[in-house]
Amino acid sequence: MTRIISWLLCAALLAVTTSHAAIRQTKGEFEDKFRQLDEVLPTANIYRTAGGEPGHAYWQQQVSYEIDVQLIEEARRIEASERITYTNNSPDTLRFLWLQLDQNRFREDSMAELTQAFADASRRGPKIEDRKDGKAPRISIDELRRQQFMADNTLGSEIIAVRGQGGELAHTIVGTLMRVDLASPLEPGQATQFSVDFAFNIVEEDALSARAGYEHFPEDERAGGNDIFLVAQWFPRLHAYTDYEGWTNKEFLGRGEFTLEFGNYSVDITVPADHLVSATGVLQNPDDVLTDAQQKRLKQAEKADRPVFIVTPGEALENEREASKGTNTWRFKAENVRDFSWASSRKFIWDAQGYHQGGDVQPLVMAMSFYPKEGEPLWSSYSTAAVIHTMKVYSRFSFDYPYPVAQSVNGPVGGMEYPMITFNGPRTDEQDDGERTYSLSEKRFLVGVVIHEIGHIYFPMTVNSDERQWTWMDEGLNSFLDAMAGLQWNPDIPWKVEPRDIVDYMKSDRQVPIMTQSDSVLQLGPNAYGKPAVALMILRETILGRDLFDFAFREYSRRWRFKRPTPADFFRTMEEASGVDLDWFWRGWFYSTDHVDLSIDRIWKLRLDTKDPDIDFERRRQEEKDKPFSLIVERNRSEGELWVDRNPQIRDFYDDNDRFTVTNKERNEYQEFLEELEDWEVAALERAVEEDKHYYVLEFSNHGGLVMPLLLQLTFGEGETEMVRIPAEIWRRNHRTVKKLIVTERELTQVVIDPRWETADVEVENNHYPRRIIPSRIEAFKTPDKEELEHRDIMQDIKTELEPEKEKEK
Ligand SMILES: [Zn+2]
Repeated sequence: MTRIISWLLCAALLAVTTSHAAIRQTKGEFEDKFRQLDEVLPTANIYRTAGGEPGHAYWQQQVSYEIDVQLIEEARRIEASERITYTNNSPDTLRFLWLQLDQNRFREDSMAELTQAFADASRRGPKIEDRKDGKAPRISIDELRRQQFMADNTLGSEIIAVRGQGGELAHTIVGTLMRVDLASPLEPGQATQFSVDFAFNIVEEDALSARAGYEHFPEDERAGGNDIFLVAQWFPRLHAYTDYEGWTNKEFLGRGEFTLEFGNYSVDITVPADHLVSATGVLQNPDDVLTDAQQKRLKQAEKADRPVFIVTPGEALENEREASKGTNTWRFKAENVRDFSWASSRKFIWDAQGYHQGGDVQPLVMAMSFYPKEGEPLWSSYSTAAVIHTMKVYSRFSFDYPYPVAQSVNGPVGGMEYPMITFNGPRTDEQDDGERTYSLSEKRFLVGVVIHEIGHIYFPMTVNSDERQWTWMDEGLNSFLDAMAGLQWNPDIPWKVEPRDIVDYMKSDRQVPIMTQSDSVLQLGPNAYGKPAVALMILRETILGRDLFDFAFREYSRRWRFKRPTPADFFRTMEEASGVDLDWFWRGWFYSTDHVDLSIDRIWKLRLDTKDPDIDFERRRQEEKDKPFSLIVERNRSEGELWVDRNPQIRDFYDDNDRFTVTNKERNEYQEFLEELEDWEVAALERAVEEDKHYYVLEFSNHGGLVMPLLLQLTFGEGETEMVRIPAEIWRRNHRTVKKLIVTERELTQVVIDPRWETADVEVENNHYPRRIIPSRIEAFKTPDKEELEHRDIMQDIKTELEPEKEKEK
């Protein structure tokens, strides 16, 4: 029994190790970097075509929500009731539905919490195994605060009731998921309604880095201070049910984001009466919650050239000084969105400007920003301007901005996106005189993060990719576009988005393929943001060119707008619409950890043999003469006469005729050779002999494994240069080394591969032929004092006076 089991196990292991990736392609070293991806990509079907388009039977579910929610400010608590309408557009009958309870991630018994490894909590310290005197592993004070916050608060979703039309519905909570058992099976094409009453305590964002939460401002004049509330992942919402995976169930571990369905929302938000609310959607009852002046300013903002204050800094300061009693209900509606989030505070300054994008989808979009005084003067200068700039650039690459509002809200979240609303973190510093200031990096952060998060309203809020599985599909595409927008904002700001900026990651051992499940990725930033963005930049600028790339990318955006693409749909569409086989590119950049390191190793300069012995033998004689003369012979000569010189009387034929002497035998053979040639062969040879061009053979090697085009800068004679761009396909028969013949009349003096650093080549010194001297720097340093305990002069130091405690600055 045991033996059979272990044999079966071995068979299973074998099956895994001999999967397609490991199939040997030859008995030798050959590896086909251009092997097609069909064996890796899913088989096309009626839902998704082989060309990467939604198929003729494509479907997706629709889920709409009506929600009544109350923010209980003092308790920092949400209490709400939602009514969900679930429309089953799938061909399948559903007996239960799965919902996401994201707040459960913050429970102490959550999978996210229980599986947090020590390494995650003790980042960047020495390894515990390496502990030596004075060097301990580290834990951040942020982490200590996080643990204390979780211990002190009751967190997670409280599900109070789940009701269908016929009464209570059974429901089962599995971590961050909840299964709701339907009273009767939901047939294809049918819809069902049910409601959920729920509540939760809002987390402190700064304590938990939670993508949402409250931020407390204890120093505000109002007794007890004020909060900004950013509310997201807050209501039980449906998991996606898809044609490619069924239910997209996967525990929320904090990193892999959300897989959601489109639907319509009607949300009534009740907050303290002096709060300002920004939310996904359009405000339905401005008369109830805005003053006449505010409504007038909003109207004015629609046609303004610069953002107009709807709530001025002075009014916001007045507002945050004391709290009013009572509540207001803000009613929002949003159509065809995949999520809903909102922000609320009495601290907000509010500005707005209309963006007239034209077209018939959404000719007028209101760009708006909400921020406290702690974001000034940065926010009023740049936030709304960056919102509008984003829409201008992104729409050129994809489609018109699809919603009536685009908002940027300042709060404790570094940067996070939702339909029509984004949370962005940059702040300014207060100086001694009370004025506020900011660094270049804070300005870059504000403009960059606003562009990035507003950009997410296109990807993945409209092109609805599966974020839980594939971070790169939204972050990578979006980082590519935000780089485009950033570089078009002002290229002098260091955006760090070009191919050279990904080089360190590409050569590091921590690199994993871009096609790695979100929660398993090491170093998410360079893996899911930087590398795919750079890959797309290279695809656009170097492989396809702007016209082909832009056409294909727009086609992808058009095909999958308000639909749910998978990685294969992206790969296939880009290839289909550009007309260029890109399987090698996806294979190398997205499925492998290879890097780019192309080298030019040698150049030969060849001259054509004429075959005419009278010419060729003389040339060979000259070549022999040009070789360095033997040092031994030269020294022997200087020491005394050679035998042949001392015995001239017995010189013979060979002393006067060298081995390059031409005989008639060779001349006859040459004639015979010519006679056997066809006329066209004679003509070709004669012309080549007459032109007598240089035949240069350039030898290249590939040290990184990634095949890429050879971008060659050739320098001739006095310094005239020429670019030759050889497609990556030159590596198709041998990806390790390849030689290329260049025939030219001119004298080749230098070759440089990729002189503009377009390809993220990790080692550029081997790109030069001949090699160059490498300029660098060296710095003098002072030897540091020894730090071990016994190096202290304890005998003296023990007598040190204790410094009086510094009076704390107010
Ligand atoms: Zn992002």
